[in-house]
Amino acid sequence: MNNFHRSTVVRSLRERKLVSRSETTTMSSESRGMMAPNQSAHGERPWYQAGLRFRCTGCGRCCTGDPGFVYVTREEIAALAARLGCGVAQFEAAFVRAIGRRKSLVELTSGDCVFFDRVTRRCRVYDLRPRQCRTWPFWASNVETPSTWEQTCRACPGSGRGPLVAADQIATLVAVIRV
Ligand code: SF4
Repeated sequence: MNNFHRSTVVRSLRERKLVSRSETTTMSSESRGMMAPNQSAHGERPWYQAGLRFRCTGCGRCCTGDPGFVYVTREEIAALAARLGCGVAQFEAAFVRAIGRRKSLVELTSGDCVFFDRVTRRCRVYDLRPRQCRTWPFWASNVETPSTWEQTCRACPGSGRGPLVAADQIATLVAVIRV
């Protein structure tokens, strides 16, 4: 299913391995001040001015499937290493790979995120999940146009359904990470 992250939205499922059991979430301190909420990069009102719906079904599709990336920051790596009781270097050797200048969690040969538990179908580090996971499906590539959002909804059964997420909250989540 991840095979849809190749242009804008199409990039999104590939780049992700995002959230299992996601919420429309918390933002990291990095996100603050990146863009005025509820504005496009050009200061125009976004097409999703009326908000978009999302409620995670817990299907796990976003964490499994075709190869993809889950970008992690230094802080996220340090927190995950601490959770696992190892040093950062040890954690990176086991769970992180370089993708250009960025770093991503590794994944299993199946394409599943290394922290996805296939038995419970839950993220094993959910409370420490990276920003990329926390902000799904509200990524710039997914909400760029109605068409990219439709593609997202086709891949993620929780997108387009459930409670309405306000445009300013979406804009805030979009500003958290570039995906
Ligand atoms: S509903 Fe969407 S966000 Fe939730 S687990 Fe499934 S694919 Fe991921």
